[in-house]
Amino acid sequence: MNFDYTPEQEAVKGMMEEFVEKEVIPFAAQWDKEEKFPWDTVKKMGELGIFGTALPEKYGGSGLDAICHAIVAEQLGRGCSSLRGVYSVAVSLVAKTILAFGTEEQKNKYLPGMAAGKLFGCFGLTEPNSGSDAASMTTTAVEDGDYYVLNGSKMWITNAGIADVALIFAKTDKNAGAKGITAFLVDRDTPGFSTKDIHDKMGLKASNTAEIILDNVRVPKTSMLGGIGKGFGIAMATLDNGRYTVAAGCVGSAQAALDYAKQYAKERIQFGKPIAAHQLVQQLIADMAVDIECGRLLVYKAGHVKNKGQRSTKEVCFAKYYCSEMVNRVAYKAVQVFGGYGFSAEYPVERIYRDARINTLYEGTSQIQQLIIGNFELGVSAFV
Ligand SMILES: Cc1cc2nc3c(=O)[nH]c(=O)nc-3n(C[C@H](O)[C@H](O)[C@H](O)COP(=O)(O)OP(=O)(O)OC[C@H]3O[C@@H](n4cnc5c(N)ncnc54)[C@H](O)[C@@H]3O)c2cc1C
Repeated sequence: MNFDYTPEQEAVKGMMEEFVEKEVIPFAAQWDKEEKFPWDTVKKMGELGIFGTALPEKYGGSGLDAICHAIVAEQLGRGCSSLRGVYSVAVSLVAKTILAFGTEEQKNKYLPGMAAGKLFGCFGLTEPNSGSDAASMTTTAVEDGDYYVLNGSKMWITNAGIADVALIFAKTDKNAGAKGITAFLVDRDTPGFSTKDIHDKMGLKASNTAEIILDNVRVPKTSMLGGIGKGFGIAMATLDNGRYTVAAGCVGSAQAALDYAKQYAKERIQFGKPIAAHQLVQQLIADMAVDIECGRLLVYKAGHVKNKGQRSTKEVCFAKYYCSEMVNRVAYKAVQVFGGYGFSAEYPVERIYRDARINTLYEGTSQIQQLIIGNFELGVSAFV
C-alpha cells in the first residue's frame, strides 16, 4: 500500500492549489453575495485544461487518473463549493457518461468542447415529484418516426441555465418501471426546451440551479444515449462518478474550514491567551482534523478502485456518505471556533457551513447511501 502521490498527482495538486489561491478564494465570498455564476473563472479553468483532466487525450483531455480527478474536485471544494459543483456536473455527470456510453459520433460532437471548458452539460434526473425514487419519473419520450418527442419537467438541475446540452432521462415505456427509462442528449437550442432559474437557495449561490421544461421536444434517435431502456443503469453508473467528486469536494471544503479555524484560534485572545491554548478548542481542532483525514482516505480508496478499472459503487457510497456528513460536522465546529464571528459573512466559515448542507441531499441523500451500503453489506440487491 502506497499513500504517496505520484509525481503527476503532485503536479496536479500544486497547479490546483495555486489556481484556487489566486483565482477562487479571493472572489468566492463576492460570488456568493451577488449570486454570480463565475464565468471568468470557469473560462480560465477551461484554458488551463482543468475540465479535461479526467477525459482521454483522444477527445482533447489529458487522460489523468481518478486520484487526479479527486484532487481537482478537492481543491475546487477548498475554494468554492459552487465552482466544484459546476465541475462535478460538467465532467463527472455528463462528459464521463458520454465517454462511457456514447457513440463515436456523440463523443466527437461533445467531448472536445467539454474538455476545453467551452461546452457544458447538465444532468436531468430529478423531477418535482420524483427524487430518491428516480424510477417513478413521469417525463416521457414517445417514438415518432426517426425522432422521440419528450414531455415533462426536471427539477433542481445544476448548470441547467448555462448548459449547452442536457442529459435527460425519460420513460420510453411507462409500464416498465426502471427498465422503461431511456437517456437522451438534448441540445439547448432544440425547440420546446426551456429552463427557469431557481433562486433563494441556502447555499451554492454562485452555481446555477434551474428547472428544465420539456414541451414537445423532438430529438433525433441518434441523440439516444446507450440504448432503449438503459437509462436507469446509466444514471446509477454515472452517480458512481458524480458522488466521487462530491465526496472529494467535501474533503476540500472541510479542509478549508479547519485551516480558517486554526488560523483564527491562534489569533483570537480570550482569558489572556490565544483560544488555541484552551484545550477544549484543541479538541474541536483535533476532531476536525481526524474526521477530514478519514474522509480523504475513503475518497482515495475509491479512486484506487477506479484506477484498477473495477466497479466502485460501494467504495464511492462509503466516501459520499461519510464525507458529506463529515463536512457538516467540521463546518459546524469551525463556526464554533469562530464564536459569534463565525455567524457572520465576514468570515468564510459562514459560507462553508451553508454550502456544506447540500452534500447530504443531492446525488443520493445520506439515507439512500445508507441503503446502498446496507444492501452491499447484507448481500441483498434492492439498491445495488
Ligand atoms: C442545489 C441542488 C442541486 C441539485 N442538482 C441536481 C442535478 O444536477 N440533477 C438532478 O437530477 N438532481 C439534482 N438535484 C436533486 C437532488 O438529487 C434531490 O433533491 C435528491 O435526490 C433528493 O430528492 P428529493 O429532494 O426529491 O427528496 P425525497 O426523495 O423526497 O426525500 C425526502 C427525504 O426522505 C428520505 N427518503 C426518501 N426515500 C427514502 C427511503 N427509501 N428510505 C429512507 N429515507 C428515504 C430522503 O433521504 C430525504 O431525507 C439537486 C438538488 C439541489 C437542492
